[in-house]
This record gives sequence, C-alpha cells and structure tokens, in this order.
Amino acid sequence: MQILTGKEVAEKVYETLQSDCNAFVEKYGFPPTLAVVLVGNDPASQSYVQGKKQACLSLGFGHRDYHLAQTTSQKELLDLIHELNEDKTVHGILVQMPLPAHLDADTVIQNIKVEKDVDGFHPQNVGNLLIGKHGFVSCTPLGVLQILDYYGIPVEGKHVVVLGRSNIVGKPMASLLMQKGRDATVTVCHSKTENLTSITVQADILIAAIGKPLFVTESMVKEGCIVIDVGINRVEDASRKRGYRLVGDVDYEHVSPHCKAITPVPGGVGVMTIAMLMKNTMQAALQLAQKETQ
Ligand code: NDP
Repeated sequence: MQILTGKEVAEKVYETLQSDCNAFVEKYGFPPTLAVVLVGNDPASQSYVQGKKQACLSLGFGHRDYHLAQTTSQKELLDLIHELNEDKTVHGILVQMPLPAHLDADTVIQNIKVEKDVDGFHPQNVGNLLIGKHGFVSCTPLGVLQILDYYGIPVEGKHVVVLGRSNIVGKPMASLLMQKGRDATVTVCHSKTENLTSITVQADILIAAIGKPLFVTESMVKEGCIVIDVGINRVEDASRKRGYRLVGDVDYEHVSPHCKAITPVPGGVGVMTIAMLMKNTMQAALQLAQKETQ
C-alpha cells in the first residue's frame, strides 16, 4: 500500500513557483499578488486565511489582507471587490467562504473579475471547465489531479467514483476527470444516491468529498483500489491540547490495508489546495502582466 503524501507533491509545486516568482519579479519589477478578503471572525476561516498569507510570504508573492467586520454590507463588500478588480497591482482575488448569512455569496463571486478569480468559482470559469476551455479551476480538485499525476496514477478508462457534488469539489472534480485527454469514466454520488456501497465497490479510484468523518469503511472499497480523501473533519479528542483532531471522510485505519494507494488526512489533499491557489495566482499574474505589456 502506497501513501500518497500531498506534502511531497506540494513541495515540488512550491519549488517551481519559487523560480517562476523570481523570474516574474525580475521581468516586471513587482510580485504576483493575491488579495484575500475575510468577512467576520469564523475561527476556521481565519486559520485558512492565515495559511494563504504564509504561503504568499514564503514564496515572495505580494499579499493584501482585508479583514472586514461581520456587519459589512453587501455594497461595502462589492465596492471593495470592484476596487480590487481595477487595481493593476492585484492579480488574484479570493473571498473566503462561507460568508455571513446576510451576504449573497453568488453575487459576490460573480462580481470578481474572471481574470482574477483564482479560486475558479466564477460561473464563466466553471463553464469553461465544463466545455474544456482554458480558465481557472477550483484549487482542491486541481490538487487531487496534481497528486494523481505526480504519483503516475493513470485515470484513462478507469472508473472513478466521486462522493459529493459540491460546486467547489465534487462537480469540478468530475468535470476534470471526464475531460478529453483525462478520459476517466466518472460516477458522481450524493446524499440521495441509493445503494451507495454497490457503486463505491466498483471504483478503481474513489474520491471522497462529503464532509462526514470516517464515512467510507472497508466494506465500501474494492480490493486494490486507489482512495483519495478530500474530507477534513474536526472530531473531539480530549487527548489533544486543542481538544480535537482532524480526520478525513475515509476510515483510514481500516480502509488503507485494502488499497493500492491512499491519501492520508492530514498531509494529503489539504496541503495541495493552497499550493494550487498559489499556482493559479502565478498564472493570473502572468496573463495580466502580459496583457498590460501588449
Ligand atoms: P459540501 O457540504 O458542500 O458537500 C458535501 C457533498 O457530499 C454534497 O454533495 C452531499 O450531497 C454529499 N453527501 C453528504 N452526505 C452524503 C452521504 N451520506 N452519502 C453520499 N453523499 C453525501 O462539502 P464540500 O464539497 O465543500 O467539502 C467536502 C469535504 O471536503 C469536507 O470535509 C470539507 O472540509 C473538505 N474540503 C477539503 C478541502 C481541502 O483543502 N482538502 C477543500 C474543500 C473542502 P447533497 O448534494 O445531496 O447534499
């Protein structure tokens, strides 16, 4: 059984990004820059935003931090986004989700300039992905692909079962895998899927993204399958100083002996998401800088 460590893959991505960033700064005189907008004080969101800042700082990317009050109005948030859209020194814009309930996330996402939508959530980028055209792709599914590529796991002709159909993980994951060139046969399951186990046991590659701790058990996987665990769930653990530990959607301990390869949690897909965000930001910076100099 092989453990697919995202950390190893992310390190390679960062190595490449580091040299791309240096070359960019040398050529244009300013760094690729990411603006991160956080509304409110959700502790998990604060820690995600901090992780993104750290990644920018360690690579030498520019970083703009906007921490808005919980009571920020839709207009105030949209005004900031429009300002960032026009700011030539900002190449990527990320609004940390979830937003407080009084704000309309769809409208916010639609107002981010497509060329700066490094999260890949804008409907135009989502549409481009579906029709196989160039655009920004959601970072987590992109990270999964990068792991599969790095470890030389072929998907062509394979039956990939994706558990979860969210707009940020399940749907883009399925779209990426079924594209011409990738050529996987994809089944997408969700909470209304009947006889789930009868489907998951057919998977050559099982990708779990449902947000339910240890949901995938050994009876749900085929002997020798490849399991990618996207889930990040906090479960209470009094033995830990912080009172909880992170587990995936897969019961790693019991499932892993039956797999050919599996990603751990933590240290699997999670670390890839920020690496892919940085890669998207680099790409946005290159495209925008080239456009400016044309
Ligand atoms: P969502 O809650 O948006 O979506 C969950 C999906 O799982 C839904 O499509 C839901 O179905 C489906 N689902 C829920 N219960 C079941 C079930 N019993 N059987 C089958 N399908 C089920 O979650 P996300 O996609 O945002 O995230 C999924 C997981 O991935 C979470 O643990 C999250 O923390 C993690 N995550 C990790 C990231 C990373 O960086 N590694 C980034 C993003 C997310 P339905 O549509 O019918 O409700």
